[in-house]
Amino acid sequence: MKAMRVPEFGPPEVLRLDEIEKPTPGYGEALVRVHAVGVNRMDVELRGGVYGKEALTDFYFGRLIEFPHTPGIEPAGVVEAVGEGVTEVNVGDRVVPHSHLSCGHCRHCRSGVDNACAQLRVLGVQTSGVGGYAEYFVWPARNLIPLPETVSFEEGASLLVNYGPVWFGLIERANLRPGETLLVTGASGGCGHAAIQVGKLVGARVIALGGSEEKLADLRARGADVAIDYRDGDFSAAVMEATGGEGADVVCELVGADTWTQSMASAALRGRLVVIGSHGGIRAELNLGELFGKNVQITGVTRANHATMAKLVRLAGEGLLRPAVWRTMPLAEAAEAHRLMEERRHSGKIVLTVT
Ligand SMILES: [Zn+2]
Repeated sequence: MKAMRVPEFGPPEVLRLDEIEKPTPGYGEALVRVHAVGVNRMDVELRGGVYGKEALTDFYFGRLIEFPHTPGIEPAGVVEAVGEGVTEVNVGDRVVPHSHLSCGHCRHCRSGVDNACAQLRVLGVQTSGVGGYAEYFVWPARNLIPLPETVSFEEGASLLVNYGPVWFGLIERANLRPGETLLVTGASGGCGHAAIQVGKLVGARVIALGGSEEKLADLRARGADVAIDYRDGDFSAAVMEATGGEGADVVCELVGADTWTQSMASAALRGRLVVIGSHGGIRAELNLGELFGKNVQITGVTRANHATMAKLVRLAGEGLLRPAVWRTMPLAEAAEAHRLMEERRHSGKIVLTVT
């Protein structure tokens, strides 16, 4: 089978379309034929060897990468074969993977928060040789979620990596309520679009940050009630102005160090800050006086638990969530897809089509 692989850390050109052996499903596993796979910032950083502004090898998952590495956290496809002992899916089922593995028996897994498991292994990140940038992948059948007919493979490949942590962070952790104000930094990326949709779905007022006139118009078209250009300087002043001096009840922090100080300043009294990504730098200063003075809560989120992911697929099937695909490209053009993302020329989800 064909697989787009990373032989070593480097620029997009290192991506290489290799012919490798088609995998065979073992006990409890299914073989999935990939139709589409979402491109994520993580794929780009895994290839480049840099996370945010730091060397990827300084992180535990960076040290676990084995070359040649097959990226791809977010494939969608059809079950082509199953191994022994599989009862969860059948051949021919359309599926998306709950794309991390967890131990299943630690206290976090037992309490349903499997995304906090110490043994967490993410598909296409810490799964040696297994990733979505390929014609097939094998995955435990219990970690596959049926994809409704009403959701295309491209949409299925644009759903869980972005909506998963956004939903888990905003709804399950920050308890975003109808009528509250949600601020979304980095709103023009896939997670940002997801955050706008989730915010509007629960009845919040959404303020989104963008970096060009075109992107601001796009954020408004996607449902943002207010779009603010972060290039104009201190965005927290604009957030205060847009909220009558109150600030945002919930801040969805998708950038990191570059926006953190202003995100804190934008938070309302008793505001909740949800840190989902930090591709704009992982080391930020914290003003402890501001933290306790405003009664602020800060929460960090890694991915989403299985129950949330299954719920999101159901909501997408019912048309309540609509993952928007910005561009589809064939797998062979993965390097160009990475370039678009690295140079921030994209405005939403890029999906690679595989068949
Ligand atoms: Zn566990």
